[in-house]
Amino acid sequence: MARVLPVLTNPDRRLRARSTEVDATTLARLRADGVFDDLIATMRAEDGVGIAAPQVGIGSRVIIVLDGKTPRVFVNPEITSRSLRTAVDTEGCLSVPGVVGLVSRSRAVTLRAQDAQGRPVERKCRDLVARIVQHEIDHLDGILFIDRAIRTAELPPLEENERNAAASKARKSEDVVL
Ligand code: ZN
Repeated sequence: MARVLPVLTNPDRRLRARSTEVDATTLARLRADGVFDDLIATMRAEDGVGIAAPQVGIGSRVIIVLDGKTPRVFVNPEITSRSLRTAVDTEGCLSVPGVVGLVSRSRAVTLRAQDAQGRPVERKCRDLVARIVQHEIDHLDGILFIDRAIRTAELPPLEENERNAAASKARKSEDVVL
C-alpha cells in the first residue's frame, strides 16, 4: 500500500540541495521501499501533476511526471535538447503553497532518463509535459519556480471547505501545480 508522504515546503534547506545520481543499488532499494508508488500517491493526494523526490526529503534524482493521466517515473532525467521557442505560463508548486508565478520555459524538450526498472528511455515532450519535466528537474538541482518566475502572486489562504472548489477551478483554468 502506497503511503502519502509529507511534502517539504520552502524555505526547507533540503529543497535547495543538489540530488545525487541513482546507481543500480540505490534504484533497487528505492523500488524495494516502494518509493515510486509513494511519490505517485503523494502527487495525487496533493492534486499535483508532477513531483520530485527531494520534495519528500529523498535526495535522489527521481521525478514523477503526469503525462495525460499516466504518472511516469524518470530516474536520472536529463534534458538533451530544447526548443528555441519558449512559452510563458502559470506554475505553482506543492513545496511553495499559496504562490503562483509566470515562468518562461522551453516549449519542447528531449528527455533522456531511465525508467523504474533502470531501462534507458528517451522522449520528446512538449507543452504541459515539457513544462512539468523542466520544473521537476529543477527540483533535483535545488531550484524552485519562484527563482525563475517573471512575476509571482500570493493566493489568499483557503478554508478547508473552499479547497475542493478552488482545486477544480484551478484545473479548469489550467493552473499547474507541480
Ligand atoms: Zn515543484
